[in-house]
Amino acid sequence: MEGDFGRPERGPARDGVRPLHGQKALVTGASSGIGRAVARALAEAGADVAVNYARGETAAEAAAAEFRALGVRAVAVQADVSREDEVEAMFARTLTAFGTLDILVNNAGLQQDAPVEAMTLEQWNRVIGVNLTGQFLCARAAVREFKRRGPRPEVSRALGKIVCVSSVHEVIPWAGHVNYAASKGGVMLMMKTLAQELAGDRIRVVGVAPGAIRTPINRAAWDTPEAYASLMTLIPYKRIGEPEDIAAAVTWLASDAADYVTGTTLFVDGGMTLYPGFEAGG
Ligand code: NAD
Repeated sequence: MEGDFGRPERGPARDGVRPLHGQKALVTGASSGIGRAVARALAEAGADVAVNYARGETAAEAAAAEFRALGVRAVAVQADVSREDEVEAMFARTLTAFGTLDILVNNAGLQQDAPVEAMTLEQWNRVIGVNLTGQFLCARAAVREFKRRGPRPEVSRALGKIVCVSSVHEVIPWAGHVNYAASKGGVMLMMKTLAQELAGDRIRVVGVAPGAIRTPINRAAWDTPEAYASLMTLIPYKRIGEPEDIAAAVTWLASDAADYVTGTTLFVDGGMTLYPGFEAGG
């Protein structure tokens, strides 16, 4: 029995090498960078995966084909996550393909940087719209589906899982990026509030905060030796993160191994939030 205070039940689906076997996942912004690595890791763990993309159907379809070769179902679903109608259509297509959803990974994000005096309202609204409102719209649609469908104890102890990709800038202020830092700080409290609101329904909502990860979004910070050396002054662990570092954290958080984890952010940052300026004693 899936009792309130019972020990985790064990079965083939949970003890095997594919801890997400039978689960259905949607990853936003999954045709590149962190999202692509997350989607692949979820597929390797046995989940069927919907690969959301905003633009670039070819890359998204290539990713879906790669994941299908791992023995799961995978579909590419286009949507700009900042648009309510497109998010609703994306969920409808995903549910048509898979029947339901167990895992949402809110990953899509972008930067539009400028000093505050030069930042346009359009830049502010676009970054908040994608990074924060997009996560809200997707989380709302996922919660509606989790509650409509009810428990699936054969695949997971939780009614559903939502993983919100934020950033170390959910806590570190970032001059010249006020729209981005505000969006990620917003994601943090959105995540915690939803976790509080939904824990009684056994829906887990968690955050993953990447540090500097080698992806297109921050190419300028790592693609020359000078830039890389400068970046290392911010990272106590002295290496850049790879998308697979984030994918491993997300996969664990989405699995029953993390069933008692909700409302918290896992920082995957090589120590970037450890005040590296104090490394030598300050
Ligand atoms: P990326 O640019 O490769 O990935 C972002 C993805 O989001 C892209 O596939 C892009 O097409 C998609 N996207 C953008 N706008 C969208 C929209 N309106 N609708 C749907 N999809 C949209 O960069 P990444 O580093 O893989 O970023 C993934 C997430 O990780 C972002 O939320 C980013 O803020 C966060 N992050 C990245 C780093 C890093 O160092 N790379 C650090 C902290 C946080």
